[in-house]
Amino acid sequence: MDAHAPTLEKLVSLCKRRGFIFQSAEIYGGVTGLYDSGPLGTLMKENIRRLWKESLNHLEQEVVYIDGALIGPEALWKASGHISNFHDPMVDCMVCKHRYRADDISLDKPCPHCGNKQWTEVRDFNLMFTTQVGANTGQSTTAYLRPETAQVVFVNFKNVMSSSRVKIPFGIAQIGKAFRNEITPKQFLFRMREFEQMELEWFCKPSESNHFYAFWILQRMLFMRAIGITKERLRLHGHAPEELSHYSRGTSDIEYQYPFGWKELEGIAHRGDFDLTQHMQHSGKDLKVYDEETKESYTPHVIECSVGVDRLFLTLLCDAYYEDEIDGEIRTVLRLHPAVAPITVAILPLTKKQHDFAYPLYKKLKLADYSVEYDSSGSIGKRYRRQDEIGTPFCITVDFDSPADNTVTLRHRDSTKQERISLEDIPARLDALLKISFLEE
Ligand SMILES: [Zn+2]
Repeated sequence: MDAHAPTLEKLVSLCKRRGFIFQSAEIYGGVTGLYDSGPLGTLMKENIRRLWKESLNHLEQEVVYIDGALIGPEALWKASGHISNFHDPMVDCMVCKHRYRADDISLDKPCPHCGNKQWTEVRDFNLMFTTQVGANTGQSTTAYLRPETAQVVFVNFKNVMSSSRVKIPFGIAQIGKAFRNEITPKQFLFRMREFEQMELEWFCKPSESNHFYAFWILQRMLFMRAIGITKERLRLHGHAPEELSHYSRGTSDIEYQYPFGWKELEGIAHRGDFDLTQHMQHSGKDLKVYDEETKESYTPHVIECSVGVDRLFLTLLCDAYYEDEIDGEIRTVLRLHPAVAPITVAILPLTKKQHDFAYPLYKKLKLADYSVEYDSSGSIGKRYRRQDEIGTPFCITVDFDSPADNTVTLRHRDSTKQERISLEDIPARLDALLKISFLEE
């Protein structure tokens, strides 16, 4: 057998068992929609951020990075439209008090939780977390945890232009947390209350915006393929005019086939001049750009590419989860791209006797910045299985012959094939296997 067989239950269990993801504050019962990254999850998310940046940096297009504040004043979120528009319809069961997103359930049917059919009115629930800035309640002002990272880019557009050497067209990218008080967080990491976004806002002339909209859709799709996501489980969904958000002139979602259906993985949106125009109107500041050629000022258009670190993490786990049969035994294996996998190589001395040879090798690779793990206890078969389950692409086994001829066994995760290589060849072999090609189709 060789089956791609992820279910949400299996992934949740694997994530906890192996230290990818934990429910936040679990010993106190946890909070729905909040999660902590464990040691392996932290390593893998670092890879995801690094690869996302590499996917932008390898292009000729100029991109600079910012890191904005998580808390924003009310005026900012008024201008962006979030105070008036960013809500979901909410309804409560009057009997068991269970709360639902009104568009998640049918109000003609009984409460899925208790079976009664007595609903409150449907109300709008704003998804932003509020907080107070300032010590005294009398003098403090209401502010909001940012529900998206994009607005921090728009309000810094002029600062970046006047302080950097960038010229239109160029991008401002940001990786950071965002917060949404979801009524019903669900599907594990898919819809969370605190999550991390990787967003690119691409500023261009209005006349070039459609060209760049198409360009970025293609680039983002190539990125998903380059980091190893299966082609057949990806598709592009262009929004019909009636599906578009209030700010958008065109939106395309890269969708992935999750165990719970086709859902958005990344959104690419043509935002036109909506955001800069809004912030000009509300702040009274001029955010236009002067065109040296035409001698006229204009408001740039924006193409946005937005993907969640957590959602991409979940997608990569789903996509990599296989169960196959090795020596008559079912094994769970994460077939992650080597550049994505939290651990690149595991050093496994065959017995404790090889420790003095194996441990210095481990330290040497660690100091050379490889993500490496040392595991010396248990049968070698069990140690291989453990590495397979966390997606480690390579195991290096040190055996009785190693000290004599300076060779070790390199085992490949997916094929389980083993080859003999000399110590000095290890870094070059690892580097070749870790390479990612963003341009390949
Ligand atoms: Zn109920």
